[in-house]
Amino acid sequence: MQFDAQWLLLALAPVFLACIGYEAWSLSRTRPGASLYSWPDTLCNAALALMHQSADKLAWLVAIPVYAYVYRHFRLVSWQPGWLAWFALFVAQDLLYYVFHRASHRVRWLWAAHVVHHSSERLNLSTAFRQSLMYPVAGMWVFWIPLAMLGFTPTQIVAVVLVNLAFQFFVHTQAIGKLGTLEYVFNTPSMHRVHHARNARYIDRNYAGVLAIWDRMFGSYTDEDEHDPPEYGIVKPLASCNPLTATFHEWLAMARDFARMPDWRSRLAALFAPPDWCERHDALRVPPGGAAQARQRVPENNTEGEFGSRNT
Ligand SMILES: [Zn+2]
Ligand SMILES: [Zn+2]
Repeated sequence: MQFDAQWLLLALAPVFLACIGYEAWSLSRTRPGASLYSWPDTLCNAALALMHQSADKLAWLVAIPVYAYVYRHFRLVSWQPGWLAWFALFVAQDLLYYVFHRASHRVRWLWAAHVVHHSSERLNLSTAFRQSLMYPVAGMWVFWIPLAMLGFTPTQIVAVVLVNLAFQFFVHTQAIGKLGTLEYVFNTPSMHRVHHARNARYIDRNYAGVLAIWDRMFGSYTDEDEHDPPEYGIVKPLASCNPLTATFHEWLAMARDFARMPDWRSRLAALFAPPDWCERHDALRVPPGGAAQARQRVPENNTEGEFGSRNT
């Protein structure tokens, strides 16, 4: 019987759960009082994982025929089966993951789904489970279409996407420090702690999936500084462990902003501009207090910090 790649993450669930159990037990002994796990947070993460897995299974029903159509009619390369093809697929998909992840922080439509992953104020292995069932609506699957054009079959695409996600489970931990030279090549727990932090210097940094090289190549890498420990979460805390609130709060906020904008240009910007666009738009409108007050509210050089994508 052939293993269906779609079930990879569910098949690995016992491994993930065992690692979470070990991490929680070991941290409770080595860092008592640090409260790195809490039941409401962990149960919310588990519920979000199940909701995401269900939505993903439905999404593959739509995406796989699209990949198959593109593979049949538009592929540019035909690969000989073997390790070279798998290596090329792995590198290409990891680069596309970097593009997807960076876009997910800078385009509000995508951020509305991705914010779920960032909205906990804890970081532990169970945080990796924190995903959105809205990813298929946001269009995550569209980012893998180029892989079909590059000559990879739908089965290969599904497999490599899920292997990439499975790897990322292991970087969501505070139990492991820096990993020396590995930090230059792979996404590591230290690198990903920075990504989950809302400290001004860490916001919108380190988008890596598996390979760290893309962040270093494209200027989005920031080192974890022991003098500035990460504070996890989004700038405006969610303050809820309800998985439905976590999933839909940003979609509702985006819909409200879309409805209140005065013209179509602003309405489209409310959907597709950076997540902070509406706030910057509001702040730049001259208030009754005058232009000086407006200038004070938006620092000119503030593009990603205080008004960054975590500011939801
Ligand atoms: Zn992210
Ligand atoms: Zn993460």
